[in-house]
Amino acid sequence: MFWRSLCVLCLCVCCFANIFIGDTLVRIEHNGEVAQLVGLVEENGAIVDEVTRDYLECYVGDTIFDSLENLNISYSILPSDNDLIQEYKNKAAISPKDEQCCSDASWSHYHDYDALTDLLHELQSQYPELCQLESVGQSVLGRELWMVKISDNVATLEEGEPQFQYIGNMHGNEVVGRELLLRYIYYLLSGYESGDQNIIDLVDTTQIYILPSMNPDGYELNQRGNGNNVDLNRDFPDRQDGMNHYPQPETSALMACSLSNHFILSANLHGGSVVVNYPYDDNSHHVPGLYSACPDDALFRDISLAYSRTNGPMYNSDEFPQGITNGADWYTLQGGMQDWNYAKTYSNFHVTIELSYDKWPNPDTLSQYWEDNRESFSNYLRKVHQGVRGSVSDSDGNKVSAVISIEGINHDVLTSPLDGWYYRPLAPGAYTVICTSPNYPDVVLRESVTIAEYLPTIHHFVFQ
Ligand SMILES: [Zn+2]
Repeated sequence: MFWRSLCVLCLCVCCFANIFIGDTLVRIEHNGEVAQLVGLVEENGAIVDEVTRDYLECYVGDTIFDSLENLNISYSILPSDNDLIQEYKNKAAISPKDEQCCSDASWSHYHDYDALTDLLHELQSQYPELCQLESVGQSVLGRELWMVKISDNVATLEEGEPQFQYIGNMHGNEVVGRELLLRYIYYLLSGYESGDQNIIDLVDTTQIYILPSMNPDGYELNQRGNGNNVDLNRDFPDRQDGMNHYPQPETSALMACSLSNHFILSANLHGGSVVVNYPYDDNSHHVPGLYSACPDDALFRDISLAYSRTNGPMYNSDEFPQGITNGADWYTLQGGMQDWNYAKTYSNFHVTIELSYDKWPNPDTLSQYWEDNRESFSNYLRKVHQGVRGSVSDSDGNKVSAVISIEGINHDVLTSPLDGWYYRPLAPGAYTVICTSPNYPDVVLRESVTIAEYLPTIHHFVFQ
């Protein structure tokens, strides 16, 4: 009876409410039976943060300790590192007006919300032809969710040019991605101006969107959750169970941003491990440790490797072969941004990248993280071009809304309402592309294509 009422209660917590985060991080050693252990702690309201071969770490509230003791699960409470974080934060960022701003040394500082805001405004004013700053919404505590667009012809939406997005700091206390994205913005802008041909090629052919902090309140409060202490990566409509609660303002803003643009490829950056995690994050049984392949498994493995291959510590991981993992094969989660983007937007292929074991490392080590990830950022970004794309129109040249299917892959994408093109990322190989439209119910257009690494194959469909 106890178990049944507990399970009913947990079901309510999981499916019909925001997932609030307990304040205490605990470590639980395990002897390999990790799937059962994850299930047990999650049923008791814990949020699993990390699973390794030897232990798992999870955020728990005060009410869980009796349950852990009743279940004979021994645990250790990890000490708070707030004092150390405050020390790191006290090494204030260099003002964008200072001559030293954006020098190599200046990146060994954390940027709080005000410094981040100042820096992004300064970069926009220094590179107005390439860089456009907007806020996609506000946090619970009223901070702007800044997003930078970088492209040539940045003020226009260019037909046939795919949209790509990086998102950082979804969990407020996972901060390496936030800092590296600020530096990557500067790297692209300054590299373009100084004539770096690789960067020029990227910026000229891609509409790049970078949102360094999805959770600025969590950053200021040194906590994983947002201003309401809700875990934003459990707050999206679930791929399998849908949406049964009101999303947080940050979640709503990111969903609206995703749906009003037409991102083709994207990633969100986290900390706590070092690995690229790809869909699905959950399986039908909600059991961790079971590989849950999505229809585009081959593509996701390919693009994840494009990131990990040039990141030495990631690629040589002891824990994850070649530095990549299927989400559910590691541990399961519901309501994550990754699966929502892939399953629900009909355009956006998305992975979760863990950048650092230490979530809030000494700022003096940020330059090493930059060296480890700089090339990987660009390699993953270039993957937005690998696939088939083109316009869909009628014989008069008017754009036609269409569904694009790939024979043998059960995942369709839609033409973009922004430019009337379709963009279908694919792993290298040979495919049959099928184009249908509700406007032409009796017509099926087909085309055989070959996809080469990093390159677009262009095919325009015309309904006669
Ligand atoms: Zn995270």
